[in-house]
Amino acid sequence: NKPIRLNRFIANAGICSRREADTYIQAGVVSINGVPATELGTKVNPTDEVRFNEELIKGEKKVYIILNKPKDCITTVDDPHAKSTVMDLVNTMCKERIYPVGRLDRNTTGVLLMTNDGDLATKLLHPSANKKKIYHAHLDKKVSEGDLEKLCSGLQLEDGRAYADVAAYVDNDQKQVGIEIHSGKNHIVRRMFESLGYDVVKLDRVYFSGLTKKGLARGEARFLNDKEVEMLA
Ligand code: URA
Repeated sequence: NKPIRLNRFIANAGICSRREADTYIQAGVVSINGVPATELGTKVNPTDEVRFNEELIKGEKKVYIILNKPKDCITTVDDPHAKSTVMDLVNTMCKERIYPVGRLDRNTTGVLLMTNDGDLATKLLHPSANKKKIYHAHLDKKVSEGDLEKLCSGLQLEDGRAYADVAAYVDNDQKQVGIEIHSGKNHIVRRMFESLGYDVVKLDRVYFSGLTKKGLARGEARFLNDKEVEMLA
């Protein structure tokens, strides 16, 4: 847990907006560890005691959950027509408002990180973060070795070129392919295979940025431990 700006800390605690917090900070009603904090841009450490009008305030606890997403369940948080969303599967685990880091298609299964740590989410999703993901794709027919090579040498899609870092058969039947990619673009795996004339029948994310679904049945979720959170940051 890194230091954050005082105005964000106050806003995260639900007291007021960040801008309003700046006004209160300048007015001298906020203190850190007993010392008035009037400088804008002051940072707060997780162990600091912040008081607003003498009253102790607590920053929102950061929550990190890994879900093994099942099929027929969407990652969109606020679709009023959705029958089943990933939120339904974790909402008894915490009271904090968490949300999925990135998207998986409705019928994609596997590793999905959920958190209320907006900084981490932004960091993980930024294209420059280049986080590794591994998917297992079941195709509608055998994939040729030549096409495995094309996945790695790069394919021209409508929004630019896409590459797999690794593409290999998972099974002897050659209809299942493990594909390692760094791109986070929407539907990227399906679009890569479609561009080669295959349909993805099933797609499972088995790895996301150091996290695997080991020990989690479909639909099951657990909190990350501190080590895992550190590894992500
Ligand atoms: N690529 C896809 O095509 N779908 C997903 O859900 C994730 C990656």
